[in-house]
Amino acid sequence: MTAVYRGRFAPSPTGPLHAGSLVAALASWLDARANGGQWLVRIEDVDGPRCPPGTGEFILGQLAALGLQPDEPPVWQSRRSHLYQGALDRLIASGHAYGCACTRAEIAAAAGPRPKHGELVYPGTCHHGTNGRPVRAWRFRVEGHVDWQDRRLGAQSQDLDAQVGDFVLKRADGLWAYQLAVVVDDAEQGITDVVRGEDLADNTPRQIALQRALGVATPRYLHTPLVLAADGHKLSKQNGAAALDLSDPPAQLQAAAARLGLALEAQPRTAAEALAAALQPWRAKFSASS
Ligand code: GLU
Repeated sequence: MTAVYRGRFAPSPTGPLHAGSLVAALASWLDARANGGQWLVRIEDVDGPRCPPGTGEFILGQLAALGLQPDEPPVWQSRRSHLYQGALDRLIASGHAYGCACTRAEIAAAAGPRPKHGELVYPGTCHHGTNGRPVRAWRFRVEGHVDWQDRRLGAQSQDLDAQVGDFVLKRADGLWAYQLAVVVDDAEQGITDVVRGEDLADNTPRQIALQRALGVATPRYLHTPLVLAADGHKLSKQNGAAALDLSDPPAQLQAAAARLGLALEAQPRTAAEALAAALQPWRAKFSASS
């Protein structure tokens, strides 16, 4: 364990917290506390049109009801465009980012059949310039593969060229891409440990590539098991996961802990009791980072 530990929970306020996002919140909180660290909350409302007004505030209220209080005032990505622009400017100046003139239809036509999982691999049409066409989006120039270590999943590797391609940093509609915003914010907030759901694990190599290009530190990563709905699909706001029932916060925390494989010895009576009781099982299962 390092002397300084700073973790975070970074929900996208596209809807209220649900059982799946509570697991991510709880896991990041437990890991921070188990390491004697700080726990921050960042509202990732960078994709404004997908975030109904008031949802970020609602999530903060849900977290408070669960006893999950951040150690610093939450930050909102919608107020941090200047930081993302600064990072993009640096990436352009260093040759890591370039302007892209392609439309979606052009990319789909040039990229061939859609891969089974995930997004299209950008075929690199504007890699050497737009041929005088106006820039629509900004992309990151990927190179080779990234090897990384996950605290739960172990050694991981992704071939960015073959599996991802040059990815978007700023979209044609002017919105910042998650990959850039998350990297800039994790660095700016001094995050040492990222604990989040396994569905985000395959974003990590892109984030590490960006960290290297920007010359910022790479945090440690721990991706927690996904919470599946009864039909076996990932539980998410998109497939209608219900907002948490907060009439019984200790029971909700106990259920979230159980989803992480953490059994609490006794039935907790308060949220604080549930959180305290989950710490030792967390330590035993996801031992402190080295
Ligand atoms: N905002 C992302 C989400 O809610 C999570 C980002 C992260 O933890 O890196 O899916």
